[in-house]
Amino acid sequence: MKFYSTNNHDLSVDFQSAVFNSMPLDKGLYMPAEIPVLDADFLQNLDQYTLPEIAYKIASVLLHEDIPAADLKALIDDAINFEAPVVKLNEDTYVLELFHGPSLAFKDFGARFMSRIMAYFLKDGEQLLDVLVATSGDTGGAVALGFLGVPNTRVTILYPKGKVSEIQELQLCSNGQNIRAIEIDGTFDDCQALVKQAFADESLNRQLRLTSANSINISRLIPQTFYYFNAVAQLYRAGKREVVFSVPSGNFGNIAAGLLAYKMGLPVKQFIAATNANDTVPRFLETGVYETRPSVQTYANAMDVGAPSNWVRIMELFSQDREKLKEMVKSYRYTDAQTVEAISAIHEQFNYVACPHTAIAWLAVKEYQLHYPSAEDTFVFLSTAHACKFPDVFSEEIFAKIQSPEQVEELKRRGKSATAMQVDFEAFKTFLLTSAAQ
Ligand SMILES: *Cc1c(COP(=O)(O)O)cnc(C)c1O
Repeated sequence: MKFYSTNNHDLSVDFQSAVFNSMPLDKGLYMPAEIPVLDADFLQNLDQYTLPEIAYKIASVLLHEDIPAADLKALIDDAINFEAPVVKLNEDTYVLELFHGPSLAFKDFGARFMSRIMAYFLKDGEQLLDVLVATSGDTGGAVALGFLGVPNTRVTILYPKGKVSEIQELQLCSNGQNIRAIEIDGTFDDCQALVKQAFADESLNRQLRLTSANSINISRLIPQTFYYFNAVAQLYRAGKREVVFSVPSGNFGNIAAGLLAYKMGLPVKQFIAATNANDTVPRFLETGVYETRPSVQTYANAMDVGAPSNWVRIMELFSQDREKLKEMVKSYRYTDAQTVEAISAIHEQFNYVACPHTAIAWLAVKEYQLHYPSAEDTFVFLSTAHACKFPDVFSEEIFAKIQSPEQVEELKRRGKSATAMQVDFEAFKTFLLTSAAQ
């Protein structure tokens, strides 16, 4: 498959360079040159396939020219080795749990697939790939655990001291092997600035092969299509056909993958993009004016994005036609107060504990049902993270119901190991270079 830039349709690069460069020089985003539609037989019989089988089918339709079949199959089986169940809450409402991977958030799908794609393209004996990531919490954990033990790669994570949750910090700092964490005495922006400076530093780039595990990398988008098809497969088994997905959205990568899946033939009736107070997209769909704003802090902090970077991909999928897009995507926004109420309501009605991001997706289902009532519809809202990652938003009663998965206990046993550092580029550079020589 060739990839073009959303800023230049004449650009054409192969998959490998789209993956290692993350972003074209013109600052657009890579998109597949063609969007293949899956064959009708496969789509009608989705219920006969497992998640790894579905994942392999989709990946091979997109990437068969780039990776031989047997290699792609092995790569998928290694990357997509956890479940994505749809859990029934009532007759027409299901929650798609995407938090059964190692970092307990849906970003594991993208991070695990990307790490293995990168490792695959690194030829034997090639220089070690140095992955640098600045994180405010969730992304760093998924990237760290995605690359853990992947040969010929090494990850350095920078995170702001005292500004990530305990579980998030342990996910960054307890890995060992090829993962190192640096605790920066500063903010997330300071961490990001250090990483950016490293990419711009000539002598560093001469000595190390640096890459970013950026969230807009096309190899993170592709694996996020897998679980939409797999969710429909599970609903087919339950006799459900008219599916509406509600997606808690921040950078809009998750829903962009859903819409890519739709263009590849996913049988789906409707998407709902649910946001918190960072409501650039719902405002755009209402008014036609795309106006980004500085992000506002909320309880659903992984969705605190004022300028969603994947939005250009979605516009591209709909050929810049806002009217067509509005038919397929509804969008609603919620406050922190509504989010907290929704967590209680979900707990009361279904005896289910949802993280704040997940609760927002459920609110959007309720709102859609009011506007477009239909007895035929089945609603699936995406649960993007395990509730145990956000302990501060729950009442004591609900918090007591959260069962931490086994890997959290394991993290606590292992404890934290990080290098403390001031916001000091020379110190960071020395760290990278001296550890390179070992
Ligand atoms: C990253 C993230 C989101 C937002 O996903 P986008 O693809 O950026 O829209 C939602 N919930 C959780 C828990 C996340 O980590």
